[in-house]
Amino acid sequence: TNRNPGENEFHQAVKEILDSLVPVLAKYPKYMENSILERLVEPERLIIFRVPWIDDQGKIQVNRGYRVQFNSAIGPYKGGLRFHPSVNSSIIKFLGFEQIFKNALTAQPIGGGKGGSDFDPKGKSDNEIMRFTQSFMTELSKYIGPDIDVPAGDIGVGAREIGYLFGQYKRIRGGYEAGVLTGKGIGYGGSLTRTEATGYGVVYFVNEMLKDQGESFDGSTVIVSGSGNVSIYAIEKATQLGAKVIACSDSNGYIYDEDGLDLETIKRLKEVERKRISEYVKEHPNAEYYEGCSGIWSIPCDIALPCATQNEINEEAAKILVANGVKAVGEGANMPSTLDAIEIFLNSHVLFGPAKAANAGGVAVSALEMSQNSMRLAWTFEEVDAKLHVIMENIYKNSMNAAAEFGHPGNLVVGANIAGFRKVADAMIAQGVI
Ligand code: NDP
Repeated sequence: TNRNPGENEFHQAVKEILDSLVPVLAKYPKYMENSILERLVEPERLIIFRVPWIDDQGKIQVNRGYRVQFNSAIGPYKGGLRFHPSVNSSIIKFLGFEQIFKNALTAQPIGGGKGGSDFDPKGKSDNEIMRFTQSFMTELSKYIGPDIDVPAGDIGVGAREIGYLFGQYKRIRGGYEAGVLTGKGIGYGGSLTRTEATGYGVVYFVNEMLKDQGESFDGSTVIVSGSGNVSIYAIEKATQLGAKVIACSDSNGYIYDEDGLDLETIKRLKEVERKRISEYVKEHPNAEYYEGCSGIWSIPCDIALPCATQNEINEEAAKILVANGVKAVGEGANMPSTLDAIEIFLNSHVLFGPAKAANAGGVAVSALEMSQNSMRLAWTFEEVDAKLHVIMENIYKNSMNAAAEFGHPGNLVVGANIAGFRKVADAMIAQGVI
């Protein structure tokens, strides 16, 4: 903490991992002898840069850009870009740190990175978004490349932003390096299923947790927070598997529809019209809208899928979910549960799928997008979806096996952390003191 003062989210992410590594460090002294922990928590590189741009009134605006290139032991740095006013070094480092282990769990050859800016896309015109992203990429382009560092989307960065970023990269660097970014449009090197991958992946993962207990999504009641990329496709897949999704949210409030949410309305409002989720009740008068997003966890449900942002489930929310009989929690967002909340879920024997395992489907399909770009071919939706399904099943199995091997059967927090850690740590040892 002395070395990274005030970086609370980064401390939280590191603590979650280190606490769970105790049994593996005890069994294999090589990790301590090689100072793996000391090296792991120090990013290989943290780039911070000025992003000046001109708004629609002709005024110069200045934002701050970030890229953390955390660990390249098993492949080029890989991780999304987040545009949100809350972005700072702590947020980017927590996300980049988690990404190292998540990427290792996917079994794809990708290292850990993350980036973004404190730019707020809300209320900005299309032209402002373009001018900002072009300025951002003008600097970022110096540090990335298909074999170096491959960014993608995250909060506030979707298909539109990736398109503008890709256009500017191509213009600066010349040539057509399709593999420099993932999440691209299907017409210019994107992979089918990438848009759906994180949300579908969370549901595939939770489905594995349920299956082990003889349960399923069919007939269950589900709450999904957020209404962005991850949330929308988690709602879609859960509904396809027979669940009734009764609530979702945005950063202003949440909607409750006891008949089950109408996904087409949500897709249009959020993906096309870029409106607030409160608009839903105008078209569905039976549904209810509540201001403030944290109240969503007070609705009784069988399965909770937090898919909005970090620390959205605190101790109090976790207690309410448990009291209301929640059976499973699958983290679609990164670090959506506080450490206290995770403890409550684990102690109450709620099935708990931690983010770095449960939401790895997005980056896994990003790695498949890189493969397709390298091979200059495109797989079908069904092919990619089938690969995603297998990857999520394997992450579940490997995490469960690691948890059992190291004395915490059923604890996927410990299992995912250990499985991801060992792969990266062994590669670091093999590559010497770097
Ligand atoms: P989007 O920008 O598409 O959606 C984010 C959603 O969360 C929006 O509904 C947004 O509401 C809401 N939200 C954002 N910030 C807050 C906040 N502070 N409080 C409450 N709600 C908030 O992002 P994604 O769906 O891509 O990402 C969601 C989460 O999933 C993030 O934690 C991200 O890191 C993680 N993730 C994403 C992956 C991906 O493939 N996209 C992969 C793995 C993890 P509003 O519209 O009001 O801003």
